[in-house]
Amino acid sequence: MNVLILNCGSSSVKFQLIATDAGRIERNTDERLARGLVERVGGESIITLEAEGRPPQRSTAPLRDTRAAVELVLRWACAEESGIAEVKSIADVHAVGHRVVHGGEHFTHSVLITDEVLRGIEDCIDLAPLHNPANVKGINAAREVFGKGLPQVAVFDTAFHQTLPDYAYLYALPYQLYRRHRIRRYGFHGTSHRYVAYRYRQLTNTPRDRTNIITLHLGNGCSAAAIRAGNSVDTSMGLTPLEGLVMGTRSGDIDPAIIEFVEAKEGLSALEVEALLNKQSGLLGVSGLTNDMRELLDEARENDDRRARLAIEIFCYRARKYIGSYLAAMNGADALVFAGGIGENSAEIRANICEGLSWLGLELDTGRNAQTTGGREGLITKDASRLKAYVIPTNEELLIARDTVRVIGGAPQHT
Ligand code: ADP
Repeated sequence: MNVLILNCGSSSVKFQLIATDAGRIERNTDERLARGLVERVGGESIITLEAEGRPPQRSTAPLRDTRAAVELVLRWACAEESGIAEVKSIADVHAVGHRVVHGGEHFTHSVLITDEVLRGIEDCIDLAPLHNPANVKGINAAREVFGKGLPQVAVFDTAFHQTLPDYAYLYALPYQLYRRHRIRRYGFHGTSHRYVAYRYRQLTNTPRDRTNIITLHLGNGCSAAAIRAGNSVDTSMGLTPLEGLVMGTRSGDIDPAIIEFVEAKEGLSALEVEALLNKQSGLLGVSGLTNDMRELLDEARENDDRRARLAIEIFCYRARKYIGSYLAAMNGADALVFAGGIGENSAEIRANICEGLSWLGLELDTGRNAQTTGGREGLITKDASRLKAYVIPTNEELLIARDTVRVIGGAPQHT
């Protein structure tokens, strides 16, 4: 089966084409055929298309909307020049899998998209006003381009965290706010945490019900998850992705009273303060330089920039605190797992985060840590380390493709 994976943002469409089926999932032999990104949809779009094993093709074209972007991707995939042998016509795309940001409390698993499901996703727009409308547009665009008969599956960022117990997902606010408006912790990056936990089980030959780990997705957005007996029991992002760890441009945890204080002192509206917390804070805000961890590490190393160092230190300190609190919350864990652009590539950040954990028996292996970058996976602690640490590159698209196949085939989804 050739599955088109769509991740539609407000002005972008990210895609992958993956060949997979039940047998390939079993043998771990799924194959990516192509990937790409269309940016600035709605204007002069920047298009990057890359068939596997070929150099990426870059171009620009005016694309009116998401539908035009999906059409362009399909046309390219079918064309001789793309070089994708498996896709010659629209009939060679057998299903579409969508990344949907918010599934609220309703969607605890990936589902086949029906009119009712689409309404359910629309019902969550209140909770994710920036993301879910773009996902709905993506689903409608794919329906228009491929016809309503083609199976489409929604995979939710929040679904994996629906196993959180009530004492972990409820805020200590007046209970009626939860009852009336569903204000609670949902958590995000669920597809990534779930994929990483699955790979951990494979790598270490651990049964699901004995998988007790803390996963750290450290990319531009960052989140941690406490996974006990294979299930997410706590996670750092909350009602929105703003809570928790320090991120590229998001503050993560702050005293909520700061919002009103900044409003008054800086003469900003609540919305403007929210934008400041989401877009001008985190690594960017502290350093005053950039949200890019690689650049910050360079600045700190080459120019000994004080605020770059501080941003890195705050980032690592917060991650360490979360690890400590999750270890307490879940009565210990067997391993930490690093994923995401920073987690997969920066041995320095991993070492910094792990530095304060020696009392727990975490002994980093410097050589292994240094070598496990650039997409490699494996153990980065010494063999004798009581608490282990691993690097496992995440692959959300692969999990979306596999869920699409499973949902269509009626197979269980817990891996
Ligand atoms: P997104 O969350 O947008 O998918 P990524 O997971 O790609 O982002 O992570 C982006 C982050 O990873 C950036 O801060 C980038 O600097 C960082 N990163 C990528 N490679 C390295 C590296 N070699 N060292 C340190 N940070 C890196």
